[in-house]
Amino acid sequence: MPFTSLGLSEPLLKALAQQNYSKTYPIQKQAIPVVLQGRDMLGIAQTGSGKTASFVLPILEMMRRTAPSKNRHVRTLVLVPTRELAIQVEEVFRLFGDGLPERIKSLAVYGGVSINPQMIKMQGVEILVATPGRLLDLVDSNAVSLSEVQMLVLDEADKMLNLGFRDEMADIFKLLPVKRQNLLFSATLSKDVTMLNDILLHDPVVVKV
Ligand code: AMP
Repeated sequence: MPFTSLGLSEPLLKALAQQNYSKTYPIQKQAIPVVLQGRDMLGIAQTGSGKTASFVLPILEMMRRTAPSKNRHVRTLVLVPTRELAIQVEEVFRLFGDGLPERIKSLAVYGGVSINPQMIKMQGVEILVATPGRLLDLVDSNAVSLSEVQMLVLDEADKMLNLGFRDEMADIFKLLPVKRQNLLFSATLSKDVTMLNDILLHDPVVVKV
């Protein structure tokens, strides 16, 4: 299926063409309209399925439609288990977002490196891709506020739970506004992921590829 019939606007379609994305992968065909409707979603998908673009594209589209003129805050928070995934996901946001007139700024933050450069770069960031522990450190340092988050994505949620991030995740959820959209991605539907689904998602659409 071509990307043109999914509700994405012209600048994003242009960026897709530039990246030689001509046809949707199954997860993208199913997920993009769901996210654009504002629905919560549970996506069961493996790495390599095209899951990253399945949330990056509709999130950029939604953020374009509601771009603030000033006072930019974090509006999209993506939680990931590892530094590598943080970097990868943020690169996809830039791949498709860099050419947009709204100039939506994204940043990846993760542990294992010095926190100061990340604190400095937080200014004006609207899309934050973060590992849970480092995110909490940044919150504790008052480098970031999560009070304006409208969209929460948990990517590779099963891995995040397996790595022992459960308490950090719970602490982060408490800092988010109640009214928000939630997207939960996992390769497996384990008992823990089901529990996360139950506490986090409202009337979710389930997409399985
Ligand atoms: P992911 O599962 O998100 O890690 O994506 C796997 C790979 O597929 C990445 O290298 C993407 O750039 C690529 N990809 C994702 N969607 C498409 C598409 N619709 N057309 C071509 N390549 C794609």
